[in-house]
Amino acid sequence: MELRLYDTLSREKRTFVSLDANNVRMYVCGPTVYDFAHIGNARPVIVFDVLFRLLRHLYGEAHVKYVRNITDVDDKINDRAARDFPGLPLNEAIRKVTEETGRQFHADVDALGALRPSVEPRATEHIGEMREIIEKLVAGGFAYVAEDHVLFSPQAMNAANAGLPRYGALSNRSLDEMVAGARVDVAPYKKGNTDFVLWKPSKPGEPSWPSPAGIAAQGRPGWHIECSAMAWKHLGEHFDIHGGGIDLVFPHHENEVAQTCCAFHQQRMANYWMHNGFLQVESEKMSKSLGNFITIHELLADWPGEVLRLNMLKTHYRSPIDWTMKSLEESAKTLDDWYRVAADVEPGRPAASVVEPLLDDLNTSLAIAALHGLRGSDVNGLAGSLRLLGFLSESAAQWEGRKQQASGIDAKEVERLIAERTAARRRKDFGESDRIRNELAAMGIELVDHKDGTTTWKLKR
Ligand code: AMP
Ligand code: ZN
Repeated sequence: MELRLYDTLSREKRTFVSLDANNVRMYVCGPTVYDFAHIGNARPVIVFDVLFRLLRHLYGEAHVKYVRNITDVDDKINDRAARDFPGLPLNEAIRKVTEETGRQFHADVDALGALRPSVEPRATEHIGEMREIIEKLVAGGFAYVAEDHVLFSPQAMNAANAGLPRYGALSNRSLDEMVAGARVDVAPYKKGNTDFVLWKPSKPGEPSWPSPAGIAAQGRPGWHIECSAMAWKHLGEHFDIHGGGIDLVFPHHENEVAQTCCAFHQQRMANYWMHNGFLQVESEKMSKSLGNFITIHELLADWPGEVLRLNMLKTHYRSPIDWTMKSLEESAKTLDDWYRVAADVEPGRPAASVVEPLLDDLNTSLAIAALHGLRGSDVNGLAGSLRLLGFLSESAAQWEGRKQQASGIDAKEVERLIAERTAARRRKDFGESDRIRNELAAMGIELVDHKDGTTTWKLKR
C-alpha cells in the first residue's frame, strides 16, 4: 500500500517517496506565542498529528522526525509584552509572555490528543543559523544590505536561474504580477518593491542580537528566515514534507523556499508541500470584531479534547471547514458511543478500510465513515483504528467519569436514587419508580435497564 499526498507546488497528488528510504523528515510552521491559540490554529496541529501518526505506523516510530517550531520573536509578542507588563523591562516582559503562552499552547494541544513533535525549536535559539543563511545569501548576490536591513531580492533569484526554483512557483504567481500588485509606499531602502526583509534593526529596548553581513548595529530576524533556519538545523537542506495552513503559502512559504534554495543551491526545499484549508465558525470568518473568535482553551472547558479532534477530522484537511455547535454535538455523541463499545476492548490492527483512505492524501472523512462501519462488525479493529487516529486515550469509565464531573453530577446521589427506584420496582410501585426516573431525567441522566435486572446510567447529550 502506498501513500499518496497532494503537493501544493506540483498541484497534484503524488506517491510519497521519502528522500531516505527508511526515514521521513517533516516540518510544520508552529505558533507565534503571544496569545491563546484559536480553534483555527488547532487545525494544522491535528491534521499534521494524524500524518505524523500515519507515517510512524508506516515507517516505525523511531523513523519519523517531526519538527514544529515556536516563533518567539515577533512584533506582536513585543506589543503584547509592553501592554501586559508595562512595569517590567521589555525583555523580561517578553519572556513572561512567550513562556506563559507556550505552556498554554502545550496544554491545549496535549488535550487535543496531539503527540509532541520530535523537536520543537524556538526561533530565539537559532539566531546563529539565521545569520549564517543570511551571510550565504548576501555572498551569493541574492540579498543586500541597506540602512542596517538585509533584504532578499526575488528578482536576483529569478535572474540567476542556476538550478534554482522560480520565485512564485509555489504560490503560482509571476513576479511581474507581484511587482504590479505591490504597495506603492514601499520602504525607501528597498531596491525592488517585492524585496523582503531577512534582518532588521531593533528599536531601543527591543530584543536584539549581533547582526550579520557587517552591520554594526544590533538587530533581529524577519519572520520567514526563522523557519528556513530551524528546518535546516533539524532536517537539513532538503527534506520530505513541509506543512502549514493555506494562508502561509504566500508570502511565508514562498520566501522560505527562496531563502533555503538560494542559500544551499537546491532545486527544492521540501518534496511535498501540504496546506490545510481554513476554518470558519458557524459559516463566518472567525474574527475578534465579529465576536465569534473562539480559543481552544474555551472550547476545552465545554468539550473533551477528543471531541474537538473528531470534529476537525470529519472534514478532509484541504477543504474549508465550518465549525458549528451542531456538528460538535454530533461528534460528542459519536465518541460517547465509540468509548462505550471500543475503549475497553483489546485493540486489533487498524482496519484496512480505515488505513486505505488515510493513505489517499489523508482522507479522514472517509476513514471516519469506515469507523462507523466497523462498529457493528469488528470492535477490535475499531479500537485499533481509533487509536491510530489518536482517540481512546482514556478508559470508558474515565471518559464517563469526566463527563459527569464536568456536568456537576454527584454520582453517589444518582446511585442512591437508582437503588430507591429498583426497590420501588420490586414492590411494583411503578408510580414511584417513574417519578424517580423523571427526577433523574431532569438532571440530564438516562437510565438503561438491563435484562439481568440491573440498571446503569449515562448522561444525556
Ligand atoms: P498563526 O499563529 O496565525 O501564524 O497560525 C498558526 C497556524 O494556524 C498556521 O499554520 C496557520 O496557517 C493556521 N491557521 C490560522 N488560522 C487558521 C484558520 N482559521 N483555519 C485553519 N488554519 C489556520
Ligand atoms: Zn514557517
